[in-house]
Amino acid sequence: MNVEEILKKLVSFPVLGGESNLSILNWIKGVLESNGVTVHLVPNEDGSKASLHCRIGPATDGGVILSGHMDVVPVEGQEWTTDPFVLTDKGDGKLYGRGACDMKGFLACCLAALPQMLEADLKKPIYFAFSYDEEVGCLAAPELARAISTHYDETPKYAIIGEPSLMEPIVGQKGIYILETYVNGSAGHSSRVKQEVSAIHEAMRLILWLEKKMDQLIADKRLDDRFHPPHSSIHIGLVSGGIAPNVIADKAHFYWDLRTIPMDDIDAIVKEFDGYCKKREATLRQVFPDFSIKTVENHPPVPHLDTKADADVVSLVKRISGKSKLNTVSYAAEAGQFANEGFQSAICGPGSIAQAHRADEFIAKEQLVKGVAMINKLILELSSENFAWYA
Ligand SMILES: [Zn+2]
Repeated sequence: MNVEEILKKLVSFPVLGGESNLSILNWIKGVLESNGVTVHLVPNEDGSKASLHCRIGPATDGGVILSGHMDVVPVEGQEWTTDPFVLTDKGDGKLYGRGACDMKGFLACCLAALPQMLEADLKKPIYFAFSYDEEVGCLAAPELARAISTHYDETPKYAIIGEPSLMEPIVGQKGIYILETYVNGSAGHSSRVKQEVSAIHEAMRLILWLEKKMDQLIADKRLDDRFHPPHSSIHIGLVSGGIAPNVIADKAHFYWDLRTIPMDDIDAIVKEFDGYCKKREATLRQVFPDFSIKTVENHPPVPHLDTKADADVVSLVKRISGKSKLNTVSYAAEAGQFANEGFQSAICGPGSIAQAHRADEFIAKEQLVKGVAMINKLILELSSENFAWYA
């Protein structure tokens, strides 16, 4: 099967983040096994989902992990002009379908290059690391990265995460954390606003504290020009609470997201916020003893990626992609999680993030060709005796 045929098959599995991925998993597993590759699964607790990993080439230190996710985002509410789960060639040089670019395109490139990998005389191994539930918070990658570092006797050195980057190397990614805060106050007639504790009024105070915290980070010149915007951001995206204008709200709730540049610490910001909440609780319990503020995790934190420009993986990715300009992104990806496991990591893959997650998602055919070409160059690098100096 060529890369387009493989992509067509991959797109036909409508596996959304959060759902069982066994259908697409078993198809990929079948392709690998029919080529003689031994596949290892990393299942979730009830066995309804699994990541897979495998090694192609010798069991020696210094290999390269190719990482991608098998799940996609929903199509509900989007106006598609084609069936999102049928890869469609409209004759305009683009292939349309959900996941065509994010990121089944890269998975297709990996599988299309498999025969070349098997034929090559690889001096260093290539690993596939395909995860599930990336689109609902990069949930499976930490366990997958851990499984790779514990399963094999040898130690891989690099991870290339094939998220759509128009084949440009991406070395930085903001850390991301999504939280929910619940405020429990006391209900009453609106005229008694000083005798009760309005959960809405208090929630607004907490929201302003968060905004001020962001402004303080900027004022303190905590800036990293590699990112747009160059500062950590704190954003409140959904607020609810109250029942009527003349009733004091006893409940309020808001969602917030925190996107941190590498020099800022997600935990430290959340801890400082918690400290402020504790102070408010102590003050307001004098008015209403059951007053409380509770902040809970909506998604586990996704760590930042901060690969230095002079890291070996950067020169490797520059060489195989043919692109030398380094970029950063503010979206969530699994690269920071692979880096946390000790693998030098960079993002580089076919397609544009501008086409991801939207109606009529597509990948340009020439991007698929470039994706396969990058992997073929990687095979050449890893077949060369000269590659040894990288490891
Ligand atoms: Zn993705």
